[in-house]
Amino acid sequence: MNAQLKPLQTGDFRLLIGGRLVPGASTIDVINPATEQVVAACPRADVAQANEAVAAAKAAFPAWAARPLAERRALLMKLADAIDARVAELAPLLTQEQGKPLGGAFFELMVASANIRGIAALDLPVATVKETAEARVVRVRSPLGVVAAITPWNFPVIMMVTKLTPALLAGNTVVVKPAPTTPLTTLKVGELCAEIFPPGVVNVIADANDLGGVLTAHPDVAKIAFTGSTATGRKVMASAAPTLKRLTLELGGNDAAIVLDDVDPKDIAPKLFFAAMVNSGQVCLAAKRIFVHESIYDAVCAELAKLATAAKVGNGLDEGVEFGPLQNRMQFEKVKAIIEDARAHGKIIAGGQPHQGPGFFIQPTIVSGLPDSARLVCEEQFGPVMPVLKYSKLEDAIARANTSEYGLGATVWSKSPERAYEVAMKLDTGTVWINKHLDLPPGVPYGGTKQSGYGVELGQHGLEEFTQAKIINMAK
Ligand code: NAD
Repeated sequence: MNAQLKPLQTGDFRLLIGGRLVPGASTIDVINPATEQVVAACPRADVAQANEAVAAAKAAFPAWAARPLAERRALLMKLADAIDARVAELAPLLTQEQGKPLGGAFFELMVASANIRGIAALDLPVATVKETAEARVVRVRSPLGVVAAITPWNFPVIMMVTKLTPALLAGNTVVVKPAPTTPLTTLKVGELCAEIFPPGVVNVIADANDLGGVLTAHPDVAKIAFTGSTATGRKVMASAAPTLKRLTLELGGNDAAIVLDDVDPKDIAPKLFFAAMVNSGQVCLAAKRIFVHESIYDAVCAELAKLATAAKVGNGLDEGVEFGPLQNRMQFEKVKAIIEDARAHGKIIAGGQPHQGPGFFIQPTIVSGLPDSARLVCEEQFGPVMPVLKYSKLEDAIARANTSEYGLGATVWSKSPERAYEVAMKLDTGTVWINKHLDLPPGVPYGGTKQSGYGVELGQHGLEEFTQAKIINMAK
């Protein structure tokens, strides 16, 4: 790995509005969660600049929509190449603002460019709905107009391109707004977009958590592609109602992992550990409630505790670090409070010690013996804390898993694919993985049931969410 670290300067970062890289109306400090030092002063757009970005996207829309899809695809492929070419510069920046280990930052950027290529390879063919002697009915897919892409702080680049790519491929223009704690890498990808796309087709603004509502209420925004918390998702939905905007809402999750009685504890523990702790647990689709059959419960707990104790937590730029800090102070404080609630109601069998010194670090923590009413079980922890819950009857575990208000994903672990499939069929979630986790290739859609949102991202279905199905009904 060839990480190039250059000291960052105020002025290194620019908003992208109407094809021009411009300073913000003011700046906002971006904090490195490993050191609590300022990474850079980031340009912060004001309402006028947000409106300018929407106006630029609106003005660019007709010409962009009129270009053949193959041309739009070719430019998206250039963006994937540009990200690959700049990965050595972007990865350390991502680590500094997000906290994830450098290897994880390289991985995120690699997935981002792979997702661009995978989504851009899709097509929007004309479909024949009906063909008779009297009539021919076809369905075409037209673009919607201006798309607002609003992203969270856990995977800033993946989340950005997973919205940008299908929106642009379908012929829409875009205003991207990253989370205020992780805007820097997104702005750098914006610079790459400035070199590739016509002015106004891609706009990137940054805020202090105050411009999302401006975009979601804007009469010239046709669709909102949003990833974030369920609480904010509700506000987005309410704000979009007056103009009936199209919405994709990828929201929170409290995914169950159901571990059947036939697995080997030593074999399963590292898989469960990864499923819960990857990206320090800050993954919408992380395993957040681990249901383990009573016959193997103690053995699985013991193996998980060993892994948690051995895990190397630290500054993501340091060699050998496996887990970085929590991304921001608010999340750090929330997870610490959830750990204290877990300490009061269950048994902490690894981790759980307060961190001394700067940085929002939490050692991977394993908790056994919790009731389902504990905060760690019924809320989304979004951090490296894993509740291991005991069950005796499989039907009960499934029922407990389904009580959540969320329904994003789930995993089932068993030596018997048939038994696991039966369980999967009964789980009320958008995705169920069997004996694997986080397999999200660009061709396979994912999305949530219940309060995990609606709509899907990725795959053909994800692409079609950026279009209007238009019927052309022709007499013969
Ligand atoms: P968040 O909801 O606080 O913020 C997400 C984005 O919304 C940010 O860009 C924020 O500035 C913006 N925002 C804030 N107020 C807004 C408003 N009123 N209108 C419009 N936008 C507004 O979420 P977060 O804390 O950044 O991310 C963590 C959450 O995201 C977790 O709940 C996690 O599960 C969820 N998430 C879901 C997925 C998924 O695909 N389902 C993926 C990643 C994260």
